Amino acid sequence: MAFDLLLKNGLLIDPKHGILRQMDVAVEDGSVAEVAPSIASTAGRKVIDLAGKAVMPGLIDTHVHVSRMLGGYRGFAMLARAGVTTAVDCAGPLDKVLEGFEMGGAGINVAVLNSSQPGHTISGNDPGRDEIARKVARDLDEGAFGIKLMGGHYPMTPEATAGFIAEANRQRCYVAYHAGTTRHGSNFHGFQEAVELAGNNSMHLAHINAYCRGVATGDPIAETLSAVAALEGKGNIISEFHMATVNGTSGRCVGGVPESHVTRTCLRTGGFAQTEAGLRAAFLAGYAHVAAEGPDGSNVLLVGEDGLRYWSERQDESTVGFPVNNRTVAFLCAGARRKDGDFVISALSTDGGGIPRNFLLRFGLLVVEYGLWTLPEFVKQTSWRPSQMLGLPRKGHLGVGADADITVADLTRREAAMTVVGGRIVMSGGAVTGSGGTIICNERGVAALERRGVPYQVGDMSRSLLYAGRS
Ligand SMILES: [Zn+2]
Repeated sequence: MAFDLLLKNGLLIDPKHGILRQMDVAVEDGSVAEVAPSIASTAGRKVIDLAGKAVMPGLIDTHVHVSRMLGGYRGFAMLARAGVTTAVDCAGPLDKVLEGFEMGGAGINVAVLNSSQPGHTISGNDPGRDEIARKVARDLDEGAFGIKLMGGHYPMTPEATAGFIAEANRQRCYVAYHAGTTRHGSNFHGFQEAVELAGNNSMHLAHINAYCRGVATGDPIAETLSAVAALEGKGNIISEFHMATVNGTSGRCVGGVPESHVTRTCLRTGGFAQTEAGLRAAFLAGYAHVAAEGPDGSNVLLVGEDGLRYWSERQDESTVGFPVNNRTVAFLCAGARRKDGDFVISALSTDGGGIPRNFLLRFGLLVVEYGLWTLPEFVKQTSWRPSQMLGLPRKGHLGVGADADITVADLTRREAAMTVVGGRIVMSGGAVTGSGGTIICNERGVAALERRGVPYQVGDMSRSLLYAGRS
């Protein structure tokens, strides 16, 4: 018998199985078929020597943007190049991600969280419980993995926000929340309010680092330590953090004012007027960045006159950013541990995708090099734990029978050498060969996706850390 793919001589890092040593990994029919210190080369139809490289369960980025409204379709290839095999699009909508699969898919798996945005996908900022219930049901039934509450950008009332979290829990729908309501912004007070609004309900609280910029109290470090302390006691809240300096937000202006409250706050933080004119001035001062199409199929950040020109031409669909994320805060988030040694923040994410900051390997391995994490802990934070968050027991490890989602990394260069999804090589040496994509859905979305002929895998909410893994 011959395996479809045989990866030889790599350093296998599989924390679930306690493996950190050179191992050969054989793949057959999209799954891991054998893992052993040595498998004969003759057993593989395609054999790749990975001596000097690390082999790990495919990276799962629990917070990215690849839809046209934020990030953009180039994000699929950018994720594949960064070694990501599965990503959670934290805004959607599903239809735009599917459109993206056609236009620029790279063969990776994407779970879509449809956003709730007043005036766009919901009637206003204070929808009633019936409207909320219908919206959650509609999202799940069409194939979204769950919902994303974009409070920090597009706030709803605290009551409606709490209503969404409660209704998502009632329907066992994955729910991620970017803190912020009509009462509190996307800051430390918004974080505290988010914890309160969840009550005993479960939720995924997005990018913890983003609430700790000192906007609320003037002290980003104290805010981070308080946030970590609050999360430590909250088994119902799972979370992620990212390590990029520049944030990502909408560049769209309506009536001379940025539509996103995050964009407005960033302008104020940088000493600029919270208007379209202020944003123009921020570009010219080198403070505002815009994600723009770069030469090699990836997006890059432009500043200054180049940035201003690019943003002016397409501001409604532009993603802008500002250097507002504190480096010490990222470090504290990475190092925050419970008394038993486990991490307080569930996962390392990037908030990347089409926004050029897919830093799982680049910065995550730097944390390893520094000695704050071990290599297995890096994999735990970027693959194993994320697989548990999403209820995907066949991912996050490379035991026999696991999905053959594999990231091959160059640990010295801190970048991906090869990305394998479902046994297929979708990226090698920077060249993306994958196309299309697979949707990770809630079981309620299966019928709709089958009808549309969309490849899918189901995340099991009864096994998701969100609903099953309370500790
Ligand atoms: Zn985001």
